Amino acid sequence: MSLQDYESVIGLEVHVELNTKHKAFCECSTAFGAPPNSQVCPVCLAMPGALPVLNREVVDSAIKAGIATHCTIEHFSRFDRKNYFYPDLPKAYQITQNDFPICTNGYVEVAAGENLRRIRISQIHMEEDAGKLIHHADGTEIDCNRCGVPLLEIVSEPDARSAEEAVAYLRKLRAMVRYTGISDGRMNEGSLRCDVNLSVRKKGEEAFGTRVEIKNINSFNFVARAIESEFKRQVDLLENDGTIVQETRRFDEKSGQTYAMRSKENAADYRYFPDPDLVPVRVTDEEIEEIRTSIPRMADERSAFYTDVYKLTAYEAERLTEDKEMSDFFETAVSHTRYPKTLVSLILADISPLFTEEMAEVPVSPSSLGSLSDLLGDDEINSSTGRRILKELLVKDFDPVAYVKEHELAQINDRGVLQPVVGAAVEANARAVKDFLSGKETALRAIIGFVMKQTQGRANPVLAETMIRELIAKAN
Ligand code: ADP
Ligand code: ZN
Ligand code: MG
Repeated sequence: MSLQDYESVIGLEVHVELNTKHKAFCECSTAFGAPPNSQVCPVCLAMPGALPVLNREVVDSAIKAGIATHCTIEHFSRFDRKNYFYPDLPKAYQITQNDFPICTNGYVEVAAGENLRRIRISQIHMEEDAGKLIHHADGTEIDCNRCGVPLLEIVSEPDARSAEEAVAYLRKLRAMVRYTGISDGRMNEGSLRCDVNLSVRKKGEEAFGTRVEIKNINSFNFVARAIESEFKRQVDLLENDGTIVQETRRFDEKSGQTYAMRSKENAADYRYFPDPDLVPVRVTDEEIEEIRTSIPRMADERSAFYTDVYKLTAYEAERLTEDKEMSDFFETAVSHTRYPKTLVSLILADISPLFTEEMAEVPVSPSSLGSLSDLLGDDEINSSTGRRILKELLVKDFDPVAYVKEHELAQINDRGVLQPVVGAAVEANARAVKDFLSGKETALRAIIGFVMKQTQGRANPVLAETMIRELIAKAN
């Protein structure tokens, strides 16, 4: 038996920090980076007798997330208290939704090769964040600014079967929170946090194995590495007659291994009960419909449209819709070109990093990029000229058609014009011609290079190659 005989079964619990102005149950600001304990009040500090009032914006955000992930939005949901003691939790309980979450039974689709796979979402619920402990050499301080900041927890069914699928699912969720505008979804800043539940089983088996939970992983890359290493650890245990203990583990970024943190607590340990200070949350059909019409088309829908209409591959469509700004950019640019596929390669190769690195501005305008795609698609310019123009467009926008005229960059597709250059090239590269004739195909490159150089890179390289072959064949 080896690793290939096993598969991993993965369920993800994702926490999304919402970008509401105020906290979930009080009027305190949620702004990041304020001095410690400057954004607190009797409610979020748990003073006796202070009463929470639900911020309705949190409910709207949850509904948006639910609609975007095909969930049922429940007309009735309720808050529970999850009791545990920790210094960053002044109330000694977290307000969350256990028995009646606001959204249930949804899914997102992820690309798995050329196919789509559904990862089901069992529920989305609203809850509050805890504070932060700041450790120093001589002690620990508590900052309660984050106490009561609203979170959504999105719980998946154990449907993912590999690190790639788990990461694709997370990317989809990040896109979803950005499309709906409920969070910036930045993993490195903690606004998207992920717990990975993982068990292994022999391929072909139905029953799930014992699962381990890996807490609080803060990048896609670490999620993938944690899954790979935990998968190996569990298979190794099973192969050597060990047993897997249900426990909570931590991923260590330096060693790339997971470590035991504590044995898994049961729901019973938390003594959940309905929060008597908060009224149940009621949502009407009208409210749901109003929110439905307010959210933009999601990545899934756009993806399906792109593969249908523009014949993009599932991979291209997925990449393009990962970021809403990038997808919006494509939709504007595509109306300016007859060559969507060319446009997509330009965006994915050279422009996408600008969106994902979250630089404030993408200098090139959608219409210029559309024109550039036309110039390339129509063979007006060759690809190296295209690359050269794009490089300049990424500094400052201009009209590529006028630019090509002004700088005489148009590709030479005219046999008559190329004829003398090709003749000279063959003459000047007698050695390469000889090598080519003795079977060394790559020797042609030197001759093509000569033609390109003579034409300042403007010759159509495919035509040049054809003509060189013809000339050599004729002469020998
Ligand atoms: P808990 O009550 O301990 O939080 P849940 O039933 O809510 O457990 O599940 C938490 C997460 O664990 C979910 O994402 C779920 O899909 C996942 N999960 C449950 N069973 C397994 C399993 N056998 N292997 C992998 N993941 C699992
Ligand atoms: Zn407060
Ligand atoms: Mg749970």
